[in-house]
Amino acid sequence: MSQALNPFEMALKQLDEVAKLIKLDKGMHQVLANPKRVLIVSIPTKMDNGEIKVFTGFRSQHNDARGPYKGGIRYHPQVTIDEVKALSMWMTWKCAVADIPYGGGKGGIICNPKEMSNGELERMTRRYAYGIADIIGPRTDIPAPDVYTGGKEMAWIMDTYSALKGNYGQPEIITGKPLPIGGSLGRNEATGRGLSFTVREAAKKLKINMKSATLAVQGFGNAGQFASQLVEEQGAKAIAASDSKGGVYNKAGISIAALRKHKEKTGSVVGFPSAKSISNEELLELDCTILIPAALENQITGRNAKNVKAKIVAEAANGPTTPDADEVLYKNKTLVIPDILANGGGVTVSYFEWLQNLRREYWTEDEVNQKLDKNITKAFLDIYKTHEDYHVNMRKASMVLAVNRVVEATNIRGLWP
Ligand code: NAD
Repeated sequence: MSQALNPFEMALKQLDEVAKLIKLDKGMHQVLANPKRVLIVSIPTKMDNGEIKVFTGFRSQHNDARGPYKGGIRYHPQVTIDEVKALSMWMTWKCAVADIPYGGGKGGIICNPKEMSNGELERMTRRYAYGIADIIGPRTDIPAPDVYTGGKEMAWIMDTYSALKGNYGQPEIITGKPLPIGGSLGRNEATGRGLSFTVREAAKKLKINMKSATLAVQGFGNAGQFASQLVEEQGAKAIAASDSKGGVYNKAGISIAALRKHKEKTGSVVGFPSAKSISNEELLELDCTILIPAALENQITGRNAKNVKAKIVAEAANGPTTPDADEVLYKNKTLVIPDILANGGGVTVSYFEWLQNLRREYWTEDEVNQKLDKNITKAFLDIYKTHEDYHVNMRKASMVLAVNRVVEATNIRGLWP
């Protein structure tokens, strides 16, 4: 998220636009514009040199009309309270789009984890967990990993929370855990897999035969690799991929499995045999059927959107397309599968992890993947219908659907006290 733009103002602007479209009641608009609760905690941490350093952490709980708050915890030097508030609002919409029974939350600590030892990270994480323990809970707010946090931090938070509450082992307090303490099979691939289901459905709507489709992926990381591999398995031919070091292109096709091996060995896609090198900018403008931006924000902009030739843009990354680019793509009949839907596989399998934890039962990978397919396909079809009903692009349609669902739940529950 660019620090030049205040993310919370951006989130409010998006809400304003939807409010106009659906003629949202003024009072309800105000309810949705404000997180229900934002907690700021100071986190005194003993550093390896014996000194105490005080970090600042946040947990924002935006809305719980549809269920407990859900959202990740990020560690980054540029975390701000407004960023965390915005991300918690976006989680409300994302969970509503995926139609899973959660509201939106988000947490963060202002820190640079790359400059901290494992011991320092553990002490800071446990102290943060202690600080937010009173407002999180398996039925109230279930955190997850985000930027620069993962299974390790989730395990420490689960352990600290369980110890504080006096009963050992409450895996359902957090998701994204390692498998031995209640993580779910299929979680690693969930984002890419969910995206591949949305591409399959989009191709059906646009009457594209996957066997003659071509694919380009910007950002050959976790999400990009799984997404492109699974779209390739549907019959599409990958022709280009890139990472932070550059890109590769071969019109005749690139095997994703071979490219993964090459990247594992050399650290980059660059130098892949029998492929030409290509810049990230060129990749976005390639003649291809499916484009998967899976790296950074603001890649498809008002400047280059008119040159995008893909029929389907499936956003694995968060915010890769700017609002002005959205308008151009919509006019050019490119179907953009917005981030909130295309990368919703991650949070959906987080929900499955929580369900498995609550029931103390564990599903096979096939069960997880089948349930994910069912959920994401329904979400795609719901949004596609809203996009046709309201004559708006898929991003606006997903926001309309999400806000309508949260408003409906709020109205049915009513205000108390
Ligand atoms: P990652 O770090 O595994 O991969 C990111 C890839 O992008 C890397 O290969 C990196 O080299 C590449 N990259 C960086 N700068 C680039 C540039 N300028 N041009 C081209 N490539 C560049 O991260 P990830 O987990 O795959 O996440 C990627 C995006 O997907 C992020 O926006 C993230 O928020 C979003 N996302 C990921 C998940 C998930 O479960 N992994 C879930 C939801 C959203």
